[in-house]
Amino acid sequence: MRTENKHGIERALWLLLLLLLLFAAFFLLTRGEKRLAASARQSPATLVIDAGHGGIDCGALGADGTRESDLNLAIALKLRALAELYGQDNTMIRQDDSTKSDTEAYSERRDLECRTELTNGVRNPVYIGIHQNTYPTGQPSGPQVIYAAGAGSDALGLLTQANLLRCLYPDCRRVAEPSTKRLYILSHVSCPAILVECGFMSNVIDLEQLKDPSFQTGLATVLMGSYLQFQSNTERI
Ligand SMILES: [Zn+2]
Repeated sequence: MRTENKHGIERALWLLLLLLLLFAAFFLLTRGEKRLAASARQSPATLVIDAGHGGIDCGALGADGTRESDLNLAIALKLRALAELYGQDNTMIRQDDSTKSDTEAYSERRDLECRTELTNGVRNPVYIGIHQNTYPTGQPSGPQVIYAAGAGSDALGLLTQANLLRCLYPDCRRVAEPSTKRLYILSHVSCPAILVECGFMSNVIDLEQLKDPSFQTGLATVLMGSYLQFQSNTERI
């Protein structure tokens, strides 16, 4: 009897020890996950500035030969300068008149895929694509923000459209719109993402403004301000 009791006590002790070890492992694992989640929330966002088109893909053309890719890059460079001024982590998809396609012959699809891969490879990205609009008639004017389906995109898009109208296009009533599947990058990035059509190159007044360096600075300032407001609102949630 004594031996059986001894074995019973030993088994109980081993079982207790096993339970303690399991509890300790569970505690350490969940604490690690919480730490990782907290650090992911706390690490700052990176503003991804994408000047649309570039290289042999000049995008839309103005009646005077102005290339959309040049306007996009000019505004993007000003936005980068402001991001630096405000101490915001940032990266540019292109900094010169180049494409992002890594195939020997230019491929628009591959170019878009490369821009998407670059964006998804950035830490905590927030994507702003810069473009210009065009239309068969010269009447439409004003900015058009299109936002992706991902979390935060609609908030950033609505905020940016409202700020562009308030600051630069007070007579425009255009509203921000959700993206369709036609826009490859907005459909494939996994972060808050918007595409900003800053104005219509097919509209004479818009085109003159879009070519003006002061107006470009105004556009970049509104984009920067909207990004900072978005960041501030996100931190409060
Ligand atoms: Zn474009």
